[in-house]
Amino acid sequence: MERVKALVKPAPAVGAELTTVPLGKMGPTDITVKVKAAAICGTDIHIYNWTPYAQARLKLPMVFGHEFCGEVVAAGSNVTKVKVGDMIAGETHIPCGNCFLCNTGLEHICQDMKILGVHVPGAFAEAIVIPEVIAWQIPADTPPTVGAVMEPVGVGVHAAYAADVRGSTVLVTGCGPIGLSTIGAVKSCGAALLIATDVSEQRLNMAKKYGADIVLNPLSTDVEAKCKELTNGLGMDVCIEGSGAPSAIRQVFACVRRAGEVVLFGLPDTDVGLDLVDGVIYKELTIKGITGREMWRTWYRVEDIIKRSAVDVKGIVTHEFPMSDFDEAFKVAKSGKAGKVVMYP
Ligand SMILES: [Zn+2]
Ligand SMILES: [Zn+2]
Repeated sequence: MERVKALVKPAPAVGAELTTVPLGKMGPTDITVKVKAAAICGTDIHIYNWTPYAQARLKLPMVFGHEFCGEVVAAGSNVTKVKVGDMIAGETHIPCGNCFLCNTGLEHICQDMKILGVHVPGAFAEAIVIPEVIAWQIPADTPPTVGAVMEPVGVGVHAAYAADVRGSTVLVTGCGPIGLSTIGAVKSCGAALLIATDVSEQRLNMAKKYGADIVLNPLSTDVEAKCKELTNGLGMDVCIEGSGAPSAIRQVFACVRRAGEVVLFGLPDTDVGLDLVDGVIYKELTIKGITGREMWRTWYRVEDIIKRSAVDVKGIVTHEFPMSDFDEAFKVAKSGKAGKVVMYP
């Protein structure tokens, strides 16, 4: 396997190209993985659309995609953890292994981190060469659809475990695939009241299925008033923001009670205009930012959630395409109405 079919960002313009590329060289600590399924992430949409976010990060041409699973078909001489024939899911963040953060159990926010499908060739390909350190072994009978979305589900699970949601009143804003994972995980942790918001009715219906007690559309409901009403005027114990919309971010700081907890993982692309005095300082809030997944604590939790069927991980995937239909797949993913979109190389 010297050349493989892959989805490439060839030039600084909208779109992508399905072509063949040389398979990367495998070093002693690398493995070659035959990709079974790969999911489209928000980052991939940025790359496809060639937004300023993508322009600032990619050197072209680049094979993109980073949420995937597959079978190990070759292993370098110093590979110790996985073996040929194993099924693995991929962690996106490639840690340097040497910095302060890597040395203190925080590899997922490594100071010198490389990102799959952004800095190094990604997973929208028939096969990919990756360092063994980002391979997470999964049971051989894991459906490829499920294996491909363990990475984004992990973000949602990481966010759900970032605050004390047990017996708490919790607001989750943004019911995309990651938000749904958060909702499912929060529910399985035993929240007392779980409210979810989104501007899409389709996504609100999914939020209900994933365990939200009450769903609200901020376009038609005063979310802050409703949260106060449902908590005897107190406000929410925990707010988890996954939409990245500045209005939703301001809203969670209005909805959270004094001394409550706010978890943020949605990425705003403009200034949010947050009122720090009344929204944060006078409330004595605890705020936690969330990115990626803890290596490997979050992955153990995702594995456990799948094993217990605590969250319908497969149900997060709403559309599947052969990779040859990538234009259609991206159109659906960009619509803001779908769950996860998975492609098969
Ligand atoms: Zn992603
Ligand atoms: Zn590091």
